[in-house]
Amino acid sequence: MKRWLKKIGEKITGSKPEEEVKEKNKTTTKDTDKIEVIETIQKDHNTDHNLTVVGADKKNSISSTKLKEKKYKATWFHKLGDNFKKTSSNIKKAMFASKISQEALDHLEEAFLMSDLGVSFTNELLTDLKTKRIENGKLGNEVKQFLQDQFLENNNEFKFKKTSKPQIILFFGVNGSGKTTTLAKLASRALDEGLRTKIIAADTFRAAAVEQLLEWGKKLELDVFTGFHNEDPSSVIFKGHKEAIENKTEVLLIDTAGRLHNKIELMDELKKIVRTIQKNDPSGPHEKILILDSTIGQNTYSQIESFTSSIGITGVIMTKLDSSAKGGSLIGISKKYKLPIYFIGVGEKVDDLINFNIEDFIDALIGNNFGDRNESIH
Ligand code: GDP
Ligand code: MG
Repeated sequence: MKRWLKKIGEKITGSKPEEEVKEKNKTTTKDTDKIEVIETIQKDHNTDHNLTVVGADKKNSISSTKLKEKKYKATWFHKLGDNFKKTSSNIKKAMFASKISQEALDHLEEAFLMSDLGVSFTNELLTDLKTKRIENGKLGNEVKQFLQDQFLENNNEFKFKKTSKPQIILFFGVNGSGKTTTLAKLASRALDEGLRTKIIAADTFRAAAVEQLLEWGKKLELDVFTGFHNEDPSSVIFKGHKEAIENKTEVLLIDTAGRLHNKIELMDELKKIVRTIQKNDPSGPHEKILILDSTIGQNTYSQIESFTSSIGITGVIMTKLDSSAKGGSLIGISKKYKLPIYFIGVGEKVDDLINFNIEDFIDALIGNNFGDRNESIH
């Protein structure tokens, strides 16, 4: 039975379908057990970050979503790649130099350039630091403040909306950036929220792309709407969208083929996709998400500019931060383009998606909250 269907059944009848009740019974845990799970996660990942609420929760039951949230938080630092941690560790060392010397600033500059903060932001930061009279030992606070000032005040969180028509979420980006994988991760989140979810596989050029989605569909137990090989992606989307409306789908995730942002005909195809969606629902697509590969680095900005002028972007997800030292460009995305960063991807598994949070990210970037406590830092 589909996962969302199970959840809907649960909501309507107030009870669970038999198989799920059995399943649930098998795994039923007392709150204290759940707390133990959290504590284990905490121990495994060598961090107590954001887990201080655990004790307060002891009396109340902890929903699986809450438990998951905690798990995402606990794995935040653990999942970032060693390269990222190494760069952050260098930033931390430079920031906590006992004396503010040219050498300390040089180290800071190098580390921020490595983390892909970009030349202009790094220069701005150094100019800012040089013009201030900073007491020894306070450099860290100044750097943190500077970074916080660069981010949008409110990084809009991504939310699924429960509407009478499907919430249409369109994924796009260059080849191999992680669109399909990220879409599957988000589909899994939608299912966790008990939403009727459907995927349209509109990357019709590569048979492997459709197969990849069908595999995910099987794993997640949800519908994947496919067309035939080389079919016009807009045509597949039109039909899939119609079916989604008829089936009262709540969340409709659309996967598209990778496209280089400087290829006009591919960008035109994306515009056509949007026009096609609007034939069935003039308010769609409701989310236009650019998937960025963090290992690619600075060409991030040119991608943002091209996709913005073509169909617009409502939010960004940056992938592969588990294998890249380069997350610094997220700051530019927020400051320069005023775009919300919804999530970061930290692996290939379905749960390797972390809600983006400015403070956590800055802490990670400057090596707070792991550093001494994490053995993988060199
Ligand atoms: P697409 O071409 O944009 O659809 O990209 P895919 O979703 O097919 O991903 C390309 C490759 O990157 C696959 O091997 C994925 O498993 C991998 N990938 C996607 N996201 C992540 C991530 O956050 N971390 C890592 N390490 N690999 C990822
Ligand atoms: Mg793909």
